[in-house]
Amino acid sequence: MSSTKILIVEDEEKIAELVKAYLEKERFTVTIANTGEKAISSMKEGFDLIILDLMLPDMAGEDICQAVREDSEVPIIMLTAKSGEEDRIKGLGIGADDYVVKPFSPRELVARVKALLRRVKGPKDLLSFNNGDLVLDSTRFEVRKNGRPLVLTPTEFKLLQCLAERPGQVFTRLQLVNVILGYDFDGYDRTIDAHIKNIRHKIEENQKKPSYLKTVYGIGYKFTGLPDED
Ligand code: CA
Repeated sequence: MSSTKILIVEDEEKIAELVKAYLEKERFTVTIANTGEKAISSMKEGFDLIILDLMLPDMAGEDICQAVREDSEVPIIMLTAKSGEEDRIKGLGIGADDYVVKPFSPRELVARVKALLRRVKGPKDLLSFNNGDLVLDSTRFEVRKNGRPLVLTPTEFKLLQCLAERPGQVFTRLQLVNVILGYDFDGYDRTIDAHIKNIRHKIEENQKKPSYLKTVYGIGYKFTGLPDED
């Protein structure tokens, strides 16, 4: 199997070299581009993942992200000093798959890289959480709570699957509408609340204190189950 190729787009040499060293320890093949122009011209080499700094001397990281997205689905992790929730959502809206806020620990970044690569390899057929308490089986569209099969509607299953594939990631209602309808439709976002309520009713022991589906006030929802090791 050929090595996984990662492109680091970062003008700060120290950071780029540090991240490169950590990734190479994990046997990734790493290329550094210190300008946006170099990043875009090296895209034809075909990378498996891009780590993209937002602040570059010649181009905004957001523009690079959009340019890459025009013809590539390569997973992108953005490095940013902007830590506001809105910036995160905006970043995800233009096609980044994950965010790491500076200053960051290289170890955390490597963990995110691995998680993202796992995710894009395709969703696992079985997602298991909290020591097997909650299991999503996407081959059978079945959810099991404590070993007992639950009946979820296809929409409920899709929503839960989307959230559970990215534990901890906050989804806006509109993003969730997109998951179930395939497009953004503003008038529909409140019905997400109704679906979430139904799913909670089925999977949560205490709906007032959910252990899986948490409300993020003013934004949306996130899944907080603890993934079980394979
Ligand atoms: Ca920079």
